[in-house]
Amino acid sequence: MDVARDLDGALASLAAVPGADVLNGGTDLMVEINFGRKRPTAVIAIDRVAELRELSKNGTVRVGAGVTFTMLLERDHGSSALREAARTVGSPQIRNAATIGGNVATSSPAGDALPVLAALDAMVHLRSSRGGRVVPFRAFMTGPKKNVRAADELVTAIEWNDAGPAQVFMKVGTRNAMVIAVAGLALVADRVRGRIGVGLGSCGPTILRAPLAEAFAAGLFDEAGWRPFAPSTGACAEFGALIATAARPIDDVRGTAAYRRHVLAVMGARALARVAPIERTA
Ligand SMILES: Cc1cc2nc3c(=O)[nH]c(=O)nc-3n(C[C@H](O)[C@H](O)[C@H](O)COP(=O)(O)OP(=O)(O)OC[C@H]3O[C@@H](n4cnc5c(N)ncnc54)[C@H](O)[C@@H]3O)c2cc1C
Repeated sequence: MDVARDLDGALASLAAVPGADVLNGGTDLMVEINFGRKRPTAVIAIDRVAELRELSKNGTVRVGAGVTFTMLLERDHGSSALREAARTVGSPQIRNAATIGGNVATSSPAGDALPVLAALDAMVHLRSSRGGRVVPFRAFMTGPKKNVRAADELVTAIEWNDAGPAQVFMKVGTRNAMVIAVAGLALVADRVRGRIGVGLGSCGPTILRAPLAEAFAAGLFDEAGWRPFAPSTGACAEFGALIATAARPIDDVRGTAAYRRHVLAVMGARALARVAPIERTA
């Protein structure tokens, strides 16, 4: 195992052995190894790379790939939805090790940070010894545990425009803690840019957006002049129903497609009722 001390060192190691497995927090990789689904011939540990642990907020928010979910609970990144998502990840021990970069690189449809990143229209920063590129999150994930990262690339950071406080993340599971989402939903209402973002998790092969629901909600926010308002019960229900139609769920051990659509409609209605009245401060 190669232990990288800085980003250049990590990129050089990855260039020397493209396809080597990257060890960040190890909470996904070690499970793959323990179950015999992966037998890495080379592992490059990046958990000591300080550059990957940086977090900054100055109009845009930039979170290094090595930032853990515990850090996302403790540090100011301006995304209450991401904080709510971080709170639901695993246990305190898992949150101390598991990183946002690992969540993005694993690209599970059940990754809890991912609906939030979709709703925020986040960008994924990738670097290799050949150079860097920035990929919108909506184009990054291509299928269950599949993405456009090349074998010699590292996810270095995730970036988004600070969207203000009107945002929420909700997750339904078979119990309250240590649970893989049956369905997850993030809603972001960016009052400054006049933008609504919805991200759906565990409801399709990738994280999905809900364009019809987003347009419907944008109409309601337009009507209110993007000021805080109390949406009617009917409007919330319609928003939830539009979200359910955007899903492409399957029946699996965690739940049926019909149940997933139902909980998405319920979460969607509640999310709009929670987010629309939130005032933008500062
Ligand atoms: C008990 C348990 C409970 C869990 N609960 C949840 C949960 O509630 N919600 C949830 O979303 N997830 C959960 N997970 C999954 C896991 O914790 C997350 O997906 C986590 O974000 C992975 O991050 P990591 O740093 O541990 O990744 P690692 O295991 O280090 O890496 C995961 C994969 O991504 C690659 N990788 C990591 N970082 C990079 C990088 N910077 N660039 C390129 N490739 C990289 C690795 O090579 C590996 O293939 C759980 C896992 C366990 C074991």
